[in-house]
Amino acid sequence: MKEGLPGRLRAMVRLRCPRCLDGAVFESLWKMHPFCPSCRLEYEREPGYFTGAMYFSYGLGLAVCAPVGLVLMAFAGFSASQSILAIAVMVPLLIPLLFRYSRILWMHCDQLLDPR
Ligand SMILES: [Zn+2]
Repeated sequence: MKEGLPGRLRAMVRLRCPRCLDGAVFESLWKMHPFCPSCRLEYEREPGYFTGAMYFSYGLGLAVCAPVGLVLMAFAGFSASQSILAIAVMVPLLIPLLFRYSRILWMHCDQLLDPR
C-alpha cells in the first residue's frame, strides 16, 4: 500500500482503488469492476452509492467550464451567449472524464471519511 497524500493523489489520477491505491477501478470507458482486482474491495458499497458522485461531477464540470467561459469572454472576444454555446459543445466531450473522475473522487473521499 502506498501511503500518504502523494500516493493517494497519484491513485486518483490513475483511477485506482481507494483502499489499496493499486487496483484498477474501470475495466472500460464506462464499465467499472465490481470488486478491486487487487484487494477485493467492493466498489459499490450499497445500492445508490454513486449518487454522491453527482455532486463531484457538478463541481468538476463547473471547475472546468467556468474558467473556459471567462477566458473566452475576456481574451477571445466571445459574447456571453457565444461562450455558453462553446461550453455546450465542449461538455459532451468531457462526459467520460467527468463520469470517471467524479466517481473516483467520491470513492476516495468516502474511503478517507469512512475507511473499509
Ligand atoms: Zn484495492
